[in-house]
Amino acid sequence: AACGSDDDDNSTTASGGAATTGTTTGGGSSGKVALLLPENKTARYESQDRPLFERKMREICPDCEVIYSNAEQDASKQQSQAEAAITNGARVLVLDPVDGRAAAAIATRAKQSDIGVVAYDRAIENADIDYYISFDNAKVGELQATALIDKLRRDGRTSGDLVMINGAPTDPNAALFKRGAHSVIDRSDFRVGKEYDTPDWSPDRAQTEMEQAITSLGRDGFVGVYAANDGTAGGAIAAMRSNGLDPASRPTTGQDAELAAIQRIVAGDQYMTIYKAIKPEAEDAAQLAYDLLNGNTSSDLVNQQVNNGTKDVPSVILRPVTVTQDNIRDTVVRDGFWTVDQICTPA
Ligand code: BGC
Repeated sequence: AACGSDDDDNSTTASGGAATTGTTTGGGSSGKVALLLPENKTARYESQDRPLFERKMREICPDCEVIYSNAEQDASKQQSQAEAAITNGARVLVLDPVDGRAAAAIATRAKQSDIGVVAYDRAIENADIDYYISFDNAKVGELQATALIDKLRRDGRTSGDLVMINGAPTDPNAALFKRGAHSVIDRSDFRVGKEYDTPDWSPDRAQTEMEQAITSLGRDGFVGVYAANDGTAGGAIAAMRSNGLDPASRPTTGQDAELAAIQRIVAGDQYMTIYKAIKPEAEDAAQLAYDLLNGNTSSDLVNQQVNNGTKDVPSVILRPVTVTQDNIRDTVVRDGFWTVDQICTPA
């Protein structure tokens, strides 16, 4: 999958991932739907979630309007954005919360006005909501840790300390990634030497955390890095470099299959990432929002019930996939997530 080999073929068409979304005919309805995303330091939100959601919404409901806001990691800002959307006439909120607990207030406010609520990618805890759509997030953590430990063993390591860089404490997904990863690491001969939660998922914070870990464990005091997503992986890798460590000698995990991460994987600087097909996630969320506009609370996209502390929420749970050098072509390229040209063109 390395760039520069002569069989590179970027003619793959965007197949759109696994799920397609039913046969609803468009135009039968209208209304305003709010898409409330949590931050913009992670590339996916503005470059994929938002445009994919908006496009699908236009397709299934040309007369609908999407009110979009990004909370830039600020939970109270998100609360105001939700209130503004409600004032503006939104009939459905598709909410990816900055803070999964604080967002219950938003959901409660929405319910008072009979507004539908879809928890998008992150759970809204202890609240009466209509739908939840995400990936199997504990599985994400398990896949990350399994790939890391298998790699270390293949490299001939039988034990050693790991650095764990987890996500934001306010993000329910971060707890699931962490729990999934621990379930694998804690059963292995590897130990967690240093562990951090990273407020706001900030790549800069992750870099500082990694600097601290290197200072405290020593340059030879750790064998690999569990980083919860590609942004934090990028920070950790930058910290290794600035301490004169070759990142290739300390396998590092990630998540999101961001272009920069796929490029680091090709270069050997990052070991793996998790590909979550955002297209079906965003498109199915648009379909769920449309269903709610039409009063349908039992969508046939639902494949699981997930308890959020208040109720079993009808949920659409998608499957995460491990990506290493070996399967870039068979995953993100085949799915049209990135073309070979994009991957092989330096930023
Ligand atoms: C998402 C990840 C993302 C992270 C930081 C998580 O809730 O599932 O895809 O990298 O938030 O925004």
